[in-house]
Amino acid sequence: MKRRDLATWGGITLGAIGAGLAIKSFLPQRFMSPAPWHEQKVQAPTLDTSTMPQIDVAFLRCGSVTIPECIAVRGAFSLAPRTIAYSGVLIRHPQATFLYDTGLSYDIHTYIADTSLLFRKTLGSFLFVQSINSHLAHAGMTSHDLQFALLSHLHWDHVSGIPDLPGVPLRINRVEYEAAKLGLLDSNGGLVRRLMGNNPIELFDCAGPTYEGFRSSLDLFGDGSIILVPLPGHTPGQVGMFINRSNGPRLFLLGDAAWINENYLRPATMHPFIWSAVTADDATARQTLIDLHLFALRHPEVSMIGMHDANMQEHFMAIEQAGMSRAKAT
Ligand SMILES: [Zn+2]
Repeated sequence: MKRRDLATWGGITLGAIGAGLAIKSFLPQRFMSPAPWHEQKVQAPTLDTSTMPQIDVAFLRCGSVTIPECIAVRGAFSLAPRTIAYSGVLIRHPQATFLYDTGLSYDIHTYIADTSLLFRKTLGSFLFVQSINSHLAHAGMTSHDLQFALLSHLHWDHVSGIPDLPGVPLRINRVEYEAAKLGLLDSNGGLVRRLMGNNPIELFDCAGPTYEGFRSSLDLFGDGSIILVPLPGHTPGQVGMFINRSNGPRLFLLGDAAWINENYLRPATMHPFIWSAVTADDATARQTLIDLHLFALRHPEVSMIGMHDANMQEHFMAIEQAGMSRAKAT
């Protein structure tokens, strides 16, 4: 075979392998073999929350971006647009009013302006909707009315509202903070460190007993209503939050352990191109997705909502607001 033919065949082969890998990246990924979760499709008893306090919950959307479904969910053969939200959650418990994650601050773009062009054109690109401060004002509040902000994890898009919340203590899982000091705080030109500013930091440990199949927990107010559980993998110390209340359905806030509900329902990661860019530990993050999948099978009555899941957040808020107006009418 002539050298030129060899080069042509070599090129075609490499091209075919590349195309094969590209196609494979969109195909479903097998998590475990055989899939034991199907045997565990047993609904668990629902928790009696009638003695729990009344807790109001509101998702505050500060920004969004739209991506095709096949990017949000590996193995979804659909280009349907899915909205990825950037939100904070306002939680009003009798013992404290606080945020879970912080959404975006008014001047977030001045912070992002100092990052690399690549960052600004990819992860740092989004549609700004409303600052967290403006959301609080709309609710008749200022940041002084918040006792603290509890951060699911320390990725920039979850701490971006902090400049609107001067002086508000930041509650962070010790594992997450210690790990972030080794790199995350200073990546992208120190973006996370700059966003966190001088706010006081209060570290906590999820050192309590196992809870609902998760390895450990922290009962935030000691009344069983707000329970934190570790959801590691996306980052080393990410925490999810159960909200058990008498005035509405149980909620489970997932941080970024799942972007949208299909991630834990199938289960399926995002497209590996994104997944590998944002995931600290692939195997641990996939195990966390399996844990969420099993919990979803056992507890279909619990609303499990990721911090970027615009659909689920909208759906929840529609039900929540209908419940509030019903309560006002009676
Ligand atoms: Zn995120």
